[in-house]
Amino acid sequence: MVRSAGSGGKTVGLIGFATLLWLVATMLLGSFSARAQTLESVEDYPDVVDARVTTTPDRARLIIDLDGPTEFAIVSLDNPNRIAIDVKAFDLKILAPADPAGKGIVRGFKVEMAEKGRARTTLELEAPAQVQQAYFLEKVADQPARLVVDLIPDTAQNFAEKVASDLAMSIANQGAVPVVASTDPGTHVPITETRPLVVIDPGHGGVDNGASAPNGVHEKNITLTFALQLQRVLIDSGRFDVALTREDDTYLTLNQRVDLARLNKADLFVSLHADSFQEEEIRGASIYTRDENATDVLDKVLADGENRYDIVAGFAVPQSTPAVMDILVDLMRREMRKSSFLAAQAIVHQLEPSVTLRKFPVRQADFFVLQAPDVPSVLVELGFLSNAADIANLQKSDWRDRTVDALARGIAEYFTQNQQLAAAP
Ligand SMILES: [Zn+2]
Repeated sequence: MVRSAGSGGKTVGLIGFATLLWLVATMLLGSFSARAQTLESVEDYPDVVDARVTTTPDRARLIIDLDGPTEFAIVSLDNPNRIAIDVKAFDLKILAPADPAGKGIVRGFKVEMAEKGRARTTLELEAPAQVQQAYFLEKVADQPARLVVDLIPDTAQNFAEKVASDLAMSIANQGAVPVVASTDPGTHVPITETRPLVVIDPGHGGVDNGASAPNGVHEKNITLTFALQLQRVLIDSGRFDVALTREDDTYLTLNQRVDLARLNKADLFVSLHADSFQEEEIRGASIYTRDENATDVLDKVLADGENRYDIVAGFAVPQSTPAVMDILVDLMRREMRKSSFLAAQAIVHQLEPSVTLRKFPVRQADFFVLQAPDVPSVLVELGFLSNAADIANLQKSDWRDRTVDALARGIAEYFTQNQQLAAAP
């Protein structure tokens, strides 16, 4: 990937297989299997049926009752000091948990579904503590299966070290960049003048033509033309460094595109597409962020099709991120999804007066190319090569100018909002 013009010269090459290594490492390090049997789908996961905490100043015990075996992961977090325990679970079958019994290490706790298939218990600590032991007990007679976590007091320094080492392990597992905000204004590093890096990803390329219009126009050429022009406009604004995942008719796998954005620590990843729908009447621009649950069935078909292009091009099946038990990565991903959604909204806000949009133009679908947990990522469907009006627009230079300018304004609006949020007290 070439980082272009006006850049501080932060060029990093592509590391192959990074994603694969990350998956393997996460599976090895990030989870503790309760027993050899693996829980293959969310439907196999048990329900959480109870959770309770007893505490004294010398020790605390959390017991989570489940109606079947599970896997779990534990992490220490600061600001405020917490210990979070995730278990693979289908659902919560408990009322709001009671307060801890007794007074001591644990001040309070909550149990929630952090996401589909993952229940999170967060212990709020009164004083620094460490996990003395954590183990899973199989169901016996009338006793449900349970996870037991015992805590004992620890020094503030050890706790801080544990927080740091948990974070380091998450990053090692992920190859991810920490996105931990400093909450201590005293140690805040002054921001030097750096421009945000926007990585633009022209969809498809090389052996992968993407969608094709009846007149023979290929999606891969349209996305490249738009990407090159968008890069120019963004660089001319003086506010951004801009890189493309490809600058010519090259094939890249979806994982390679994601890795390029991550390794270069992009501040925003924008994948450009002009796909086809089975329904010819669907037209207009739309912006997608990633979510396992698509906005509607058509969007699911669209993303499924898009995710298959690697196979079509002769590459292995792209891997969606599995539900790994890494809490910090999950928290990171959650932040990124929020940012991605804000970026999509800002782009739509600027596109709206300029070009025809689809109904409900901010959409969700499970596009693998949007899977970076540490880079806000959006996918722009410029229009559809299955609709005659869109086909005509996509090839007109004045329509392209208008769209590219609006995309650039939307990207700028997103970063402006971010700066305002960061500056807010
Ligand atoms: Zn596409």
